[in-house]
Amino acid sequence: MTMASRIESTRDESEETATESSEPESALETARRQLSHAADHLDIDQHIVERLKFPQKVHEVTVPIERDDGTVEVFTGYRAQHDSVRGPFKGGLRYHPEVTRDECVGLGMWMTWKCAVMNLPFGGAKGGIAVNPKELSSAERERLTRRFAQEIRDVIGPNRDIPAPDMGTDPQTMAWLMDAYSMQEGETTPGVVTGKPPAVGGSKGREEAPGRSVAIITQLVCEYYDYQLGETTVAVQGYGSVGANAARLLDDWGATVVAISDVNGAMYDPEGIDTASVPSHDEEPEAVTTYADDVISNDELLALDVDVLIPAALGNVITEENAEAIAADLVVEGANGPTTSTADLMLAERDVAVIPDILANAGGVTVSYFEWLQDINRRAWPLERVNDELEAEMQAAWRAVRAEFESRDVTWRDAAYIVALSRIADAHEARGLWP
Ligand code: NAD
Repeated sequence: MTMASRIESTRDESEETATESSEPESALETARRQLSHAADHLDIDQHIVERLKFPQKVHEVTVPIERDDGTVEVFTGYRAQHDSVRGPFKGGLRYHPEVTRDECVGLGMWMTWKCAVMNLPFGGAKGGIAVNPKELSSAERERLTRRFAQEIRDVIGPNRDIPAPDMGTDPQTMAWLMDAYSMQEGETTPGVVTGKPPAVGGSKGREEAPGRSVAIITQLVCEYYDYQLGETTVAVQGYGSVGANAARLLDDWGATVVAISDVNGAMYDPEGIDTASVPSHDEEPEAVTTYADDVISNDELLALDVDVLIPAALGNVITEENAEAIAADLVVEGANGPTTSTADLMLAERDVAVIPDILANAGGVTVSYFEWLQDINRRAWPLERVNDELEAEMQAAWRAVRAEFESRDVTWRDAAYIVALSRIADAHEARGLWP
């Protein structure tokens, strides 16, 4: 897999290079282009825009660990902190061999927009270690995480920068990080990370939240375009945390889910799939096609003539090669960056509504915010409250984006970035430049 294809958040709709090239942009290029594009629609101080093109700080650390065989190996870790004008930095930590400084900066910027469109009191950050976690034992991953926690301890914290799981990291990684931080601080500090196991302050509903937000946004966009959910057909690419949760909720709410897929192919049933009966990636990895009577390819799934298409597997799957073949009226981005910039333009020309990832899958960071609130208050919320408040936050973000969509001649993606940037710019304007 190339780095560009792995980066995921690699789409944009504005001018210049990427629209002419078949190579997807890097996360950093995308984040900057989206910033400039949104800025073109707003009357904001150019100095603020210039400032936002760069991270506030990037920390690079050396992380040596003793392997199980007694040898020492040295890895490089990063924490890129983009902007904290609206609150502490927030964003994931990934363990992947191709993690780089620039990737962390780009994805950190993208977290700034995502938190702002949701109106969360956070800025954006991203970090990680250039390592293949699959080549480490659990004990080695633990030592790596504890040493990394020590190296970045001064720059993280519940009021500074709050990491979360990402590619190659999980709730257990966050529990080690929280423990290492707490031991050094001399006090138990659950709010230093989110996405923890519930036993140490993790929130109920966190795992399901990105898929739930995709389902909520799908419901809202259907309502907006006068589709009755009971008469709406849906195809979902990817049956993991995001895809399976979104598909099952939409199925519960009355939609007809006609196709779901994993890396091996797609299950297709025009009469509707009983989504509860098919195991998700977590429950039984890559098993969708083994439960299917009718198997089609992932390419065929993307081209199905359905009302709603939800790409929820990986980035850059809707490209200039297949954008013409997309027959859905509405695309709700479950994955990060599933639509390349060229494909985005092609879909916009055909009036296909594409609801962007920074809005649709933002349930994860939103429930991370709830987790942080629960940790600070030392009081866990019942699942019902988490889901009710998530619904309320998604509706509020939707209304804000819809208002921009309706008042300007822009795409849904533009509208979401305009909401995000105007909130960030207002905060910069109010605080001013230090010193
Ligand atoms: P996951 O690992 O739980 O599931 C991924 C699914 O996609 C699996 O069913 C897998 O078989 C399938 N898949 C993998 N490669 C595929 C391919 N080439 N073609 C078709 N299907 C393929 O992952 P997830 O957590 O659901 O994440 C999916 C996407 O959503 C990613 O882009 C991720 O960055 C994004 N996302 C995840 C979260 C989260 O908290 N889980 C939050 C926001 C965004």
